[in-house]
Amino acid sequence: MLTSVRSYHGEPVKLLVGAEPVIFYVHEEVLTRSSIFLRTALKDKWEEGQSRQIKVPAEDPVVFHDYVHWLYHAKIHCPSVDAETCYSPMLLLYILADNLLDTACQDRVVDALLLHMRDKAPDPGDPGASPTRWFPIGFDVDLVYENTPKGSFLRRLMLDTHLYQGTSNWIRNPELASLNVESLADLSAGLLDKVYRVHAGAVLDKPEQFDAQSPCVYHKHGADKRCGADKQVAEKGKDAPDQDQDM
Ligand SMILES: [Zn+2]
Repeated sequence: MLTSVRSYHGEPVKLLVGAEPVIFYVHEEVLTRSSIFLRTALKDKWEEGQSRQIKVPAEDPVVFHDYVHWLYHAKIHCPSVDAETCYSPMLLLYILADNLLDTACQDRVVDALLLHMRDKAPDPGDPGASPTRWFPIGFDVDLVYENTPKGSFLRRLMLDTHLYQGTSNWIRNPELASLNVESLADLSAGLLDKVYRVHAGAVLDKPEQFDAQSPCVYHKHGADKRCGADKQVAEKGKDAPDQDQDM
């Protein structure tokens, strides 16, 4: 059988997502390709002789929709065309993928985040201004710290963004600053380490070194596994999640 049709010819699995469940149907081979949680859940259902139905009550259907898009298209979708607000949906997808034990999805979200950070985009509030770079700050950092454990690669990425690309305005301006205590403690420690050049791992001094750093620093695949970051993974386009619109 052609491998290109194998993913879609089988029966779909029914997923009930959210507290007030929204129903999704996803082909089994696609659904179980990289999520250990979903693979195990489906196997348990089979062994119990139950229907091909999985409940995921704790997840947000909107974020799960982006996850299904990733499963079928291998691209990280940003529902916003606004560079500044594009980060939250991607961060929420990373957190959902963490819950579903899907490290491949998490690594590709990291790639998409870095792609956005390294790109310049227009200021929606000032269309006449030159395109500029946008970073996840303030609310986005709080989102990460409130939903990830100590030592998370995503926390490390937020921290490094601040250490190597941040300005004092990110901290002084209450509308831009993170209010999360752990985030501020990490940032303070990181800045002290940077000052005394004892930053754990590679010592980075300049913003361009952060830009040139391999995404693998923030990936979960481990040293013994192939990276998988071999194709473009990000896209954006308002309310067009099912179109393959490359960024
Ligand atoms: Zn990697």
